[in-house]
Formats: sequence, structure tokens, C-alpha cells
Amino acid sequence: MPAAPYNGEVLPFFAAMTSTSSAPSASNFIRNIVDEDNRTGKWEGRVETRFPPEPNGYLHYGHAKSICLNFGLAESYGGVCHLRFDDTNPAKEDQEYVDAIIEAVRWLGFDWRQHLYFASDYFDIMYACAESLIKADKAYVDSQSADEMRVRRGTLTEPGVDSPCRNRGIDENLDLFRRMKAGEFADGAYVLRAKIDMASPNINLRDPAIYRIRRATHHRTGDKWCIYPMYTFAHPIEDAIENVTHSICTLEFEDQRPFYEWLLEALADAGHFPRPLPHQIEFARLNLTYVVLSKRKLIQLVDGAYVSGWNDPRLPTLSGARRRGFTPEGFRLFAERIGVAKADSWIDMSVLEECMREHLNDAAHRRIAVLDPLKLIIANYPEGASELCQAPNHPLKPELGMRDIPFSRELWIEREDFMETPVKGFHRLYPGNTVRLRYGYVVKCTGCEKDAAGKVTAVFAEYFPDSRSGTPGADNYKTKGNLHWVCAAHAYTAEVRLYDRLFAQPHPGQRREGDPEGFERDFLDDINPDSIRVVEARLEPALRAARAEDRFQFERHGYFVADRYDSAEGAPVFNRAIPLKDSWAKSGK
Ligand code: ATP
Ligand code: MG
Repeated sequence: MPAAPYNGEVLPFFAAMTSTSSAPSASNFIRNIVDEDNRTGKWEGRVETRFPPEPNGYLHYGHAKSICLNFGLAESYGGVCHLRFDDTNPAKEDQEYVDAIIEAVRWLGFDWRQHLYFASDYFDIMYACAESLIKADKAYVDSQSADEMRVRRGTLTEPGVDSPCRNRGIDENLDLFRRMKAGEFADGAYVLRAKIDMASPNINLRDPAIYRIRRATHHRTGDKWCIYPMYTFAHPIEDAIENVTHSICTLEFEDQRPFYEWLLEALADAGHFPRPLPHQIEFARLNLTYVVLSKRKLIQLVDGAYVSGWNDPRLPTLSGARRRGFTPEGFRLFAERIGVAKADSWIDMSVLEECMREHLNDAAHRRIAVLDPLKLIIANYPEGASELCQAPNHPLKPELGMRDIPFSRELWIEREDFMETPVKGFHRLYPGNTVRLRYGYVVKCTGCEKDAAGKVTAVFAEYFPDSRSGTPGADNYKTKGNLHWVCAAHAYTAEVRLYDRLFAQPHPGQRREGDPEGFERDFLDDINPDSIRVVEARLEPALRAARAEDRFQFERHGYFVADRYDSAEGAPVFNRAIPLKDSWAKSGK
């Protein structure tokens, strides 16, 4: 599905943070590094970071951590963060992903100002850097096959063996490299390799490949190039070109740091870049229970139609989160709360959900929805009459005002709020019991009506005319039950999708106790079969006017959003972002 065009909305960073947010910018080891650099004057106070996604998929919750970290750091030190597309591998990249990534970062509320970059715009400079390495005898063209190279690379315990091509002369290397670029050779016939040390204990320094021949049409440069730089070569150069000060990446790149530094030192020696050179810093990626955060697995879920698309509200993508009703403020609160560390760990999904709840509790207006409707007939209320009751838009924010909700003889109540024969401790409607209809009257249940199968089809009650909420008489009534309801004649009937976690297991695909020896679990087997339930709900009439992306608390049910794609004017449909309480913790589901 193509990404919706960016709609121009930008939330200023932190401006939309709520009173529930923790103090901004708690200390962490990366901030300590920046503070130290500022103390020594290394960058003359400059802080320039970047968020560098490869446009080969949609952004996920893990990326939100990296975005909040990079943009947040720049913001709090008065610096800038670049949005850079690391589009050096044409095979899997696409403009659709570029658009979706731009939309997602903006949605989170971050602004790269004029610093939007594409690595592919640097291909000429990267090529020149490669020639400089050759001229400095720091790179050579290898004609071994991929298999030969693999064998000669050695292992963790065995040093590698020099390539027979390692001592080719500079002129010959330059000639071959230029002919690679000119398209004289087949894909894979030659590669350009850095000349470092085949015996290095760090395999990444054993003459890594830096350029390969690959005839692929690039989504931005078309067929201009038939050679493409390797990621590990391109990335440091991108940072240096953009004058990045702190290049923050996830831990799996730690072993690449020596090559990052070797390369930039070599290119600084050759006069390409000034010192000091960008500093690579690694942090632990986000691991979150009950989801998968790998593009490869997300693509499987989309292509296999386990979800409706990249923006399915159950998918842990940022476009899915937005559609589900999660909020940018909730993500930023989450990023603050989990912090940044140097060691890998797992974060429980309930932490993210609680952050969303905190923000939504503060921000969302209250509305009433009956998700599993059962008719309640108030026998002594005049037929054809109706009146307006008043309900606050937010219980803690009187300044947000009240709204009118109609009341009349026939109402919808939640089916689970009635029991013909109550179980112990049930304080809602049952014959003989008295409850308050929230914001309305106190009613006494007189009985019910059932169909041939014994299913309750209507409940009967009588109301007390002097019990209306907000009137002096109301206080004379003491009830244990306090039910929500919607007037049947005025109700807005709409589709409501009740989303739940996509996976039923905290670690999808991971072995579990009792699994037979050698049994391989597939993460797809752990999909939660109840991750979506669609109901036809009865909503209070004010909800008819909800606009796409308006968020509400449906009292007693949770937080909901008007779907941004399926809502029409005057006819919104709603998605549940999250229930009011964490049902997973209690049920031990
Ligand atoms: P995946 O592993 O899902 O394919 P990726 O790391 O290859 O993701 P990129 O587009 O290269 O995806 O990521 C852009 C940035 O986001 C990188 O700096 C990367 O380190 C960071 N990032 C990716 N996943 C996470 C995560 N789970 N937690 C924190 N940062 C992440
Ligand atoms: Mg990556």
C-alpha cells in the first residue's frame, strides 16, 4: 500500500510532551561523552548526529528508540540531526519506503531542517575516496572468486591468507577499478578491497571488500553506476561528508569500529576530510517482548498476509502504531524511560503500553461506547420523550467542558453488565438490584426477556425521577454499580476493531520449556489468533463527528482512535489502541 502523502504536521520536540513525561534528557553514557567533548572543546560545542535508515522497509518501534536518541540528543545540545537515507544497496530499496520513513520521523515530531540527505548523492565522492585509497596503496582489486576469498579469510581462530592479487601495482589497480566502473566486467568478476591486515584478530580488518560490481537499477541514480560501495565503506564516508560529530549505531557494529576509524584516518591523510573525524558510539538496540523487530520478519508478515499491510495496527511499525492510536508523545516518553545502555536487554511490552496509556489518559477526551449491546427498557419513562444529560470531556480537566448525551426510554448497555442470576460480588444489573446509569438516573432492574434459545434480548428497569446526576436528589441514592449506556434512538452504530497483541508469546519463535529436542519453532506459529476482533458498537452521538486520528477514551474500555484511512466524514470507524488495564499481566495469557 503506498504511503499517504505527508500532511505538513510537525510537532515541535518536547512542546507536546505532557505533564506525565519524566524529566527530559536523563543522563546516559552517550550524553557523558558529549559533555566530555564539550568540556575539552573537541567539536567547539557542535553536536551533529544522524538517523540513517536504509529505505528497504518501514520503520519499527526499535527505530523510534534510535530516532528519539539521535534527534533528542541534538535537540538538547542545540545541535542538528540529519535524516539520511543509507541507500547504497539498490536491490531492496524503494521510493515507497523513503516516503514512509519521512512521514514516520515527522510524525514522531522531529525536524531535520535542511539536513535531508541521500547516501546515493555521495557516490561520486565515494568513488574518489576509493581511488585515493588505491593511490595510497591502501586498496587493491581482487579477482578471486567469492568462494576463494571466503576460504582465504580464515576464521576466528586462524589468521587469513593474503590474496594472490594483494601486491598488484598501483597503476594496474587504478586501471582495473576504472574499468570496473566503466562496465567492462561481469558482476562479481572483481572487487575492490581495503589493504589492511589478513592476520588481524578482527576479521573485519582482513582486507574487507569496499566496492563490488553489481548491475542493478538504483531508485535514485538509475543505471548511472554498475559498481556500488559496501555499507561498511559508505557509512563512515557519509558521516564525514556531513560533518557528523557523534555517529550513534547499534551494538552489532562495535566490531566494525576499527575499520570505521582506519578508513576515515586514511581518507583524512589523503586530504578528503578534516580532523577531528566523526566518532562512532554503539548502544544496545531495543528488544521488545510480544513483537518482532526485524525488517526481514516484518516483510514475511506483510507478504504472507498475516496482517493487512505495513500499516496494520498490530504490526510494530510506526505507521501501524499511528493507525492504532499510539502517540508520538508516548514513544518519546518510552524512549526516555528505557534510557540508553551499552548492554543488550529486553523491555516488556507493558512498558510501552503504559507509556501510551499515560499520555492518552492525559490527552484523550472521554466518550461512551457500548461494544456488546443489550437493550435496556425503562418502563416508567414516558414513551417518545428524551432529555439531555451532561458528561465531562475529561474528569481531571474541567476546562475541557461538558457535552450533552441524550437519554430516553430505550438505551443500550453492555451485555456483560446484566446477569439474570448474579454471581457473588456482581453489583451491576440483575432483577431487584439498583444501579446508577452514569451521568443519568438510578434505575432498578425488574426483569428481562429472552428468545427461544434462552438468550437475553432485553432488560427491563424502572427509573427514579429525582435521582438524576447533578441534581440535589441524586445524593440520596447509594448504588454499587455505575454503568455506561447509550441512548438507542440517537446511537451512532459503527465498526470498532478491538486490536490486541500480535503474538501470544513474549519471545516469538523462541524455544519453550517442553519443546522436543531439536524442535525448531517458527515465529509465525506464535501469532495470537485473537489479535483482532471486529464489533458493531453503539456509540454516543458525539462520536459521529470524530475526525480521522481523533483519539478518545471510551469509558471502561480503553483508548480508541478514528481510523485514518477507513473513516469518512460523519462516519468514523474506530480502532482500539489499548485497553484501560494490562490484561496480559493479570491473566498470565
Ligand atoms: P533491521 O535489523 O530490522 O533490518 P536495520 O538496523 O537494518 O533494521 P536500518 O534502516 O539500517 O535498519 O536502521 C536505521 C537505524 O536504526 C540504525 O542506526 C539502526 O542501528 C537503528 N535501529 C534498527 N533497529 C533498532 C532497534 N531495534 N533498536 C534501536 N535502534 C535500531
Ligand atoms: Mg541496518
